[in-house]
Amino acid sequence: MDINQLKEILSEFGDSVRFNHDLKKKNWFNIGGKSKVFYKSKNLRELVNFLKKLQNSEKIFILGAGSNTLISDNLFDGVVIKLDKNFNNISLLKEDIIIAGSAVLDKSLSDFALNNSISGFEFLSCIPGTVGGGIRMNAGCFDKEFKDILLSVQAIDKSGNIITIPSKDIKFEYRESDLSDDLIFLSASFKGVKSNKIKIKDKMNKLKIEKETNQPSKIKTSGSTFKNPKSQSKKKVWELIKESVPLDKSFGDACISQKHCNFFVNKGQASFEDMNKLIDFVAKKVLEKTGISLEKEIKILK
Ligand SMILES: Cc1cc2nc3c(=O)[nH]c(=O)nc-3n(C[C@H](O)[C@H](O)[C@H](O)COP(=O)(O)OP(=O)(O)OC[C@H]3O[C@@H](n4cnc5c(N)ncnc54)[C@H](O)[C@@H]3O)c2cc1C
Repeated sequence: MDINQLKEILSEFGDSVRFNHDLKKKNWFNIGGKSKVFYKSKNLRELVNFLKKLQNSEKIFILGAGSNTLISDNLFDGVVIKLDKNFNNISLLKEDIIIAGSAVLDKSLSDFALNNSISGFEFLSCIPGTVGGGIRMNAGCFDKEFKDILLSVQAIDKSGNIITIPSKDIKFEYRESDLSDDLIFLSASFKGVKSNKIKIKDKMNKLKIEKETNQPSKIKTSGSTFKNPKSQSKKKVWELIKESVPLDKSFGDACISQKHCNFFVNKGQASFEDMNKLIDFVAKKVLEKTGISLEKEIKILK
């Protein structure tokens, strides 16, 4: 649809909908251009109405915290949806079961579990994304992944139908699952184990120190660029990069982190093209040296 038609159809959403909206500040890389439509959804009723208005006519991308997404500098000819307000709720269903909206930050979920003396959520304090992004990515660290605590996901498809999917019906793998790309996650329930606050806090502190020792923080990055190879190699991806790539290689302001060579960094004004060139360069060098074809972990919006 052209922008004028969209402006007419979406006029009732007022300030929640923006046109030609800049996405650069909405992702950790601080890279990217504009989106034809940007919609900040306040609640489920409004979201259903919005999707019905669009009638599946547009490409849709759901943006969480943007900590795993590289965005093109070209206009995204579609709709970016960011869940807000009512999707940020978090509550206790039973003494060891938590329900969280998909816009809740992983760190907030982890803190909520701590405050309610529930163990199992400590690893989430080290992941800078949202619940929605974590489910999509099956995010994890320190031998724990979202799938290990997830009970069920509530989602909506792009036609506006709401479904609940029990975790046992989802095939999760390392940083992926068989959940359809057509789904927008709304909320999820999680189960932990009753424990005591001191033990939980202690574990969180240990993980934080380990994470800060081995990975860079407070920089413009999207975390791990590539996944660890599944079966071809016993080596981790950072080892393959280290032995195959000159680590001082950069394209414009896109460079490889000194601290963790699978983390790529925008050290200033890197463009999408700069970062993409670096990603392609590293993948090519690793393939040439080791014969292993790397798969991207980061998602690309273009
Ligand atoms: C410094 C740093 C450290 C990191 N460390 C880790 C780590 O230890 N382990 C790890 O696994 N990852 C790590 N990451 C990567 C990232 O934080 C995770 O992948 C996180 O789960 C992404 O969440 P997000 O909300 O930022 O997702 P986004 O980047 O916004 O989106 C990622 C994907 O999820 C989809 N998505 C987001 N929300 C929804 C929704 N509600 N419904 C449907 N789809 C949705 C998007 O469309 C996109 O495909 C790190 C990143 C950084 C910057």
